[in-house]
Amino acid sequence: MKYAIYGVFLIFFSLIILPSIIVFGFNPHRTSSTPENEVKLIDGGNLVKVDNLNNKDYHTVSVFITNQNKIQKIDLEEYVKGVVAAEMPAEFEIEALKAQAVTARTYVLSKEIVLGGKGCQLHPGADVCTDSEHCQAWQSEEELRQKWGENFDKYYVKISQAVADTEELVLVYNDALIVPAYHAISGGKTENSEDVWQSKIPYLRSVVSPGEEVASKYKTTVVMSKEEFINKLKQKKPSLKLDNSDILNQIKDIERTQAGHIKTLKIGNMTFGGEEIREIFDLNSTNFNFEAQGNNIVITVIGYGHGVGMSQYGANALAKQGKKFDEILRYYYTGVEIVKIEDLLKIQH
Ligand SMILES: [Zn+2]
Repeated sequence: MKYAIYGVFLIFFSLIILPSIIVFGFNPHRTSSTPENEVKLIDGGNLVKVDNLNNKDYHTVSVFITNQNKIQKIDLEEYVKGVVAAEMPAEFEIEALKAQAVTARTYVLSKEIVLGGKGCQLHPGADVCTDSEHCQAWQSEEELRQKWGENFDKYYVKISQAVADTEELVLVYNDALIVPAYHAISGGKTENSEDVWQSKIPYLRSVVSPGEEVASKYKTTVVMSKEEFINKLKQKKPSLKLDNSDILNQIKDIERTQAGHIKTLKIGNMTFGGEEIREIFDLNSTNFNFEAQGNNIVITVIGYGHGVGMSQYGANALAKQGKKFDEILRYYYTGVEIVKIEDLLKIQH
């Protein structure tokens, strides 16, 4: 009974709470050198049972192609190629690309399994959509030809290899599929899940993530006038009282997570969440600091994304050190195992 209640809670968390958090936390501004997305929501958390797979051909994914407004059935491994290509720069190390392939596969299979054809709540009949703000980014071969130009052959072969080398592999914890959350740049340390999403998920633990500094967006700044700063905050909280003369001294009670991201802070007479500030000023993460320069406020931001799970730049740094994809995945997802889907099925029965 206790188990059932936990399961119901996890499903509620996954279907209702997690998607809204993830969409809220998403930052649409990207460049080609930055991984395309910061997270993958998944349905069912660590209690995604695979029993339903017996009645379904899980090798075929019903994908709602958002920019074409239609559902297309795509072979699972072909689909994973399009996700890796959309979610991670093709210049990354092969072992990092392989790690991304396993997260992409785990994500879509959980959607297929839990919701059986209703995986994307926005698009009935689809397991997943290609809207990176809702499900998981994906690009067709034609789109990749345009994106990569003369490098197409080289990159396509590389991504195909990363997917083939990890064929059928998924991430499991306690014999169930996991929520393979990830992001571009943690800022040096990843987050504990409960600091971002309230729910303590055993395999989403904070770990140090060195080597990310090479990313062009590791550190970014946002500059605005003091008036603009106050106006934007007031748009969100009209009853804010903030004196223009000494703004920095009116920012206090900053509470940070273990990884250094801001949970809450007080500005003037109002308390804001770190995510609220991130949204108001369109910041890359909630790891930020304020400075005053003349009539301007400068916000310095470290990292890109929510910081939970695998850091894509961190994964690439580990790969450069010679770490293999399974070592990278086990580093960022505490206590997980990497197994073939068919072996997972055997465990369940
Ligand atoms: Zn969707």
